[in-house]
Amino acid sequence: MATAICPRCTNNPELARLIQASGTAKRCTLCKTRQTVLTAEQIGSILNKNLREIWGKPEDSGHNHTLSLREIVQKAVGDSGEWVDEIINGLIRAEKHNLDKRSTAFWKKQGQYVKKEINAQEHYKEWKRVEEELRYSRKFFSERAKDFFDTLFGDIDDLVVVAHGKRQRVVQDIPKSEVFYRARLCKPSELKAIQQDPVGHLGPPPRDKASAGRMNAEGVVVLYMAFDEETCLAEMRPPLGCQSAIIQVKTKRDLRILDFSLLERVHCEINYFHQDFLSEVKKRGFLRALHQLISQPVMPGMETDYIMTQAMAEYLSSVHCHPVDGIKFSSAHRKNGFNLVLFPNKEITGKKKPEMGSLFGVEYVEDSLKFKQTADIIYQYKNLSFYLLNDGQIGFAQ
Ligand SMILES: [Zn+2]
Repeated sequence: MATAICPRCTNNPELARLIQASGTAKRCTLCKTRQTVLTAEQIGSILNKNLREIWGKPEDSGHNHTLSLREIVQKAVGDSGEWVDEIINGLIRAEKHNLDKRSTAFWKKQGQYVKKEINAQEHYKEWKRVEEELRYSRKFFSERAKDFFDTLFGDIDDLVVVAHGKRQRVVQDIPKSEVFYRARLCKPSELKAIQQDPVGHLGPPPRDKASAGRMNAEGVVVLYMAFDEETCLAEMRPPLGCQSAIIQVKTKRDLRILDFSLLERVHCEINYFHQDFLSEVKKRGFLRALHQLISQPVMPGMETDYIMTQAMAEYLSSVHCHPVDGIKFSSAHRKNGFNLVLFPNKEITGKKKPEMGSLFGVEYVEDSLKFKQTADIIYQYKNLSFYLLNDGQIGFAQ
């Protein structure tokens, strides 16, 4: 009799749910009682489809960490019992059933497989469509943008990644008393005034003076900061001989931030029996690439390219059901440097002269003001080679 499994006999909660939802009443091979079951063949057939989205052949991939078919199926099912072999047989039969005679089978008992790169084109195209809509309709936000960001960030609070050996949430709390840096370029004639009132000159600008930036449209006051002094100064792109002023600010309370750099570590391998397996996988594939997309350098004069990051920041700070206080992302001007942008507390943005502490939850660190002069600027270059992909996109050789 064909191997059949009931929901109680699997450790995989999504598989149990699936058996419950779509199984038929039969005797379970493992617990020997009459239950709702799926046969190994049926489970193998579902796996055949979903595993193909993630696993490829080693010869089609640049990396060489391979797993055997048995290892992959064991991990997918969450079990290593003998019945896993029945599922493997079912999976191989399911593929054969759908194969035309001339094609060779992908799954082989002795085969070795590697993880594929996830194709996130669909989301990338939607990103571009939303961008065009916002640009040409000259609206700051649209239903389409909201739907798209809802898809991407709806469950961002639950997203956990493994970074530096430990599990971390991509939405994190920055504790009280954490120090950040803020700088601005200054003329010699301004030095004295800045010295007398550092916060007045390096704090948030008044609304009518807030120019557009990566994460804010014109007139929207946000607070850009960097995690270290070098990055903070590099972000100003100060010319040789130019003077800058830099201050430290520290957090007055816990701040809830979304760390985009951690998104690069989002796992694309989710439970193979998840009800929306394919859409989840694609979404995660796109989230992995999103940090690069939002932190890429924008050429001087092309500041309208910020339209998507501005809309995204607006969404995360006020449209999302659980808004964040800020976003952490990579510096486009210093390798391994990070920026933090804080969004204002909406309840008090209306006030005429809001103060940095109540607006952003940070305060000036007494006596931290320093003046700097650019003594040297060092750029390093490497040769660039690129190639055209079939869909017209450009690929870069490493
Ligand atoms: Zn059972």
